[in-house]
Amino acid sequence: MTLPDIGAVQLPQALDVIRAEVREFLQAERTAGRFVPHCDAWLSAADPAFSRRLGEQGWLGMTFPPEYGGTGAGALARFVVTEELLAAGAPVAGHWIADRQSGPSILRFGTEEQKQSYLPGIARGETWFAIGMSEPDSGSDLASVRTRATRAEGGWRVSGTKVWTSGAHHAHAMIALVRTDALDPTRRHAGLSQFIIDLDVPGIQITPIRLLSGAHHFNEVVLDDVFVPDGRVLGEIGDGWRQVTSELAWERSGPERFLSTYPLLAAAVDRLANAADSSASASVGTLVARIWTLRQMSISVASRLDAGQSPDIEAALVKDLGTLFEGTLTDAVRMLVRTEPDTESTDGLTRLLAESILQMPGFTLRGGTNEILRGVVARGLGVR
Ligand SMILES: Cc1cc2nc3c(=O)[nH]c(=O)nc-3n(C[C@H](O)[C@H](O)[C@H](O)COP(=O)(O)OP(=O)(O)OC[C@H]3O[C@@H](n4cnc5c(N)ncnc54)[C@H](O)[C@@H]3O)c2cc1C
Repeated sequence: MTLPDIGAVQLPQALDVIRAEVREFLQAERTAGRFVPHCDAWLSAADPAFSRRLGEQGWLGMTFPPEYGGTGAGALARFVVTEELLAAGAPVAGHWIADRQSGPSILRFGTEEQKQSYLPGIARGETWFAIGMSEPDSGSDLASVRTRATRAEGGWRVSGTKVWTSGAHHAHAMIALVRTDALDPTRRHAGLSQFIIDLDVPGIQITPIRLLSGAHHFNEVVLDDVFVPDGRVLGEIGDGWRQVTSELAWERSGPERFLSTYPLLAAAVDRLANAADSSASASVGTLVARIWTLRQMSISVASRLDAGQSPDIEAALVKDLGTLFEGTLTDAVRMLVRTEPDTESTDGLTRLLAESILQMPGFTLRGGTNEILRGVVARGLGVR
């Protein structure tokens, strides 16, 4: 059995300066009334002006080199910035996917023209992306996608349906996984390609899929004979599976996989600080210890990504343990703080609890379900 490599990594002390700047910025934003904290803010709370202000600070595109509008500060610096934003429950959903994974994918696989066209806008917080992987009958078994691209003069014609597409209603582009060759049952991962599809071109219909609460953050995206020029093929035709799986370590290992409900914990600790019942301390201590461990794991993965490695197993572990924890935290706070969850409440804790409960079912599904992740881990350890 090959054990996963999750070595202890210390964040460089130099990053304390960035952390202090981000905290000061967030405090000023809060004081000016520019945002209130939300749980699951990285998927549910989008604010174009806030994204632009982050871009102005140089806190987007931190993994892009300066020639593409980034700062080149690297994945560990980005880790510090993003964990502060998540802990504060700041409205980062608009740019999140572009900054975390679409931009890095374009940087890795894209043409020079694609890099020039998209990366500076992402770094400014103005160009937002969606992930077009899942389809009505293809989620865990992603290789079964049926969205089909056929050759046309100067490009491809794409038809099919993507589903659960987070943020597609406000994104400018989507990286879609499509079938460019007929399915060969003996080589199911062959014949797939990735296309960058601008979402304002003819033939695209984006329809909200609402949560039980009525909230809207994901969508169905129907592509009806959409023309995608050759210049918008990402990487190589037929190499889509390798490319899409290399994105997943970025998608699965970040602090958003264990901090989605952190603002709830922070609000609960504020409320409980003056409580007479000291038994809450033990519960809070347990939760904080778990966050600390998950954080160390996530930093370790970030440092390996920074070094150009592909820590897929370790990323799957972070997501499995982290997303389970996000739910555990919600349940624990529900037991510690006697309040009736209400999304409309003016009491922050009551509202954050309601948001966490409503989003909780999705934590272990999005980005690959925990059952699938355990399969990845088992295979990686050589026990499957
Ligand atoms: C909040 C949220 C946001 C999302 N955003 C996006 C997005 O932006 N873009 C995008 O492309 N997708 C997105 N998704 C979709 C997500 O990636 C899929 O829901 C997920 O991959 C599971 O696919 P499915 O829903 O088709 O379930 P299925 O694959 O049908 O799985 C159903 C159940 O069967 C289990 N199962 C399936 N196969 C196996 C197996 N081999 N072994 C053991 N158990 C198995 C699964 O674990 C699950 O419990 C989002 C989902 C959520 C909840």
